[in-house]
Amino acid sequence: MAGFDAVPSFDLKRNYARVEPEIKEAVERVLASSQFILGPEVAEFEKEIAGYLETARAVTCASGTDALILALMALDIKPGDEVITTPFSFFATVSCITRLGARPVFADVEPDSYSISMQLVREAVTSRTKAFIPVHMFGQMCRLEDIEDTMSERGIAIAEDCAQAFAAHRARGGGIARAGTWGTLGCFSFFPTKNLGAYGDAGMVTSASEELAARVSRLRVHGSASAYLHDEVGINSRMDAIQAAILRVRLRHAETWTEERREAARRYGLLFAEHGLAEHLTPPSETPGNRHTYHQYVVRARRRDELQKFLAERNIASRVYYPLALHLQPCFACLGYKKGSFPEAERLTEEVLALPMFPELTMEEQERIAGAIAEFYKS
Ligand SMILES: *Cc1c(COP(=O)(O)O)cnc(C)c1O
Repeated sequence: MAGFDAVPSFDLKRNYARVEPEIKEAVERVLASSQFILGPEVAEFEKEIAGYLETARAVTCASGTDALILALMALDIKPGDEVITTPFSFFATVSCITRLGARPVFADVEPDSYSISMQLVREAVTSRTKAFIPVHMFGQMCRLEDIEDTMSERGIAIAEDCAQAFAAHRARGGGIARAGTWGTLGCFSFFPTKNLGAYGDAGMVTSASEELAARVSRLRVHGSASAYLHDEVGINSRMDAIQAAILRVRLRHAETWTEERREAARRYGLLFAEHGLAEHLTPPSETPGNRHTYHQYVVRARRRDELQKFLAERNIASRVYYPLALHLQPCFACLGYKKGSFPEAERLTEEVLALPMFPELTMEEQERIAGAIAEFYKS
């Protein structure tokens, strides 16, 4: 509608304006050093982020997708092995399994957290299960306490997909566990739109095991621990120093930006309640013990497609993550799943809508969004 500024789904320009001098200084430092791949800048970032996450080792790589592939390679996942995961996630969660010739085995999700159901994971375990990839959907950790004993008794590794959950944590015992430190390995993406984003592609694998971390750091440089000597065949997946320097700056602000996202989520909740939208729209729920980092603010909405169109006409952006469940992707037809195999995940693909969410989102913008949604359901 005329007269209204657009509300974007995500706005990196506003974020850049807050850190521009720091970023420029960091990038110039790398340019002056002329050391562009791995090197001291990357090593410093690995040390700092391992410190932040309170984990033994952080090994960077070229993307979140590579982080998942490297993690499964380090776990020796091979053809014939089964890896359990969710049908409701980004494509890379599953493609890393088939890339190694292993078989993805899906278990359906919970309707409230959008994450994989641990009860159904337990039922999906067979003698061929070698690993489990829980995905901490949209910034909130899965109920790993419900499955960790089953997995450790059977020697099944847990490779957490933390691409959407940087800085999330969950109650464990008397304390907390951060995403990426609960399982055998943690896999992160620093794609620019993730909560801790680089200004290009980048990723990371974390582990408490020195042995696994050392293997990942070999695998990311062609399986080589010392120059031109190869113990095994790896891949080329290195972080570049410019991304590391940028991530070092952005890591220093990560806590503030996480809290700003949480505050925006709280405001959405209040606004929806004020407008009495409960029967039309279900806001995301933060399950007890979690710090949800709201990588995405995903509601379940009645007449989702019409609502999305209505918002677009009023210059309000929204996105559907994800419009098709992974077991229904054409490239996975060979796995033999059908429509109806995972009803909860399939229902989500028809109802979910991601509303604008980023640290700089303003109250005024949120009032406009909530007002427009209320207007839609009155019509
Ligand atoms: C973004 C994402 C990935 C892949 O990360 P890239 O850095 O884009 O390769 C994997 N899993 C999930 C759940 C993601 O959201």
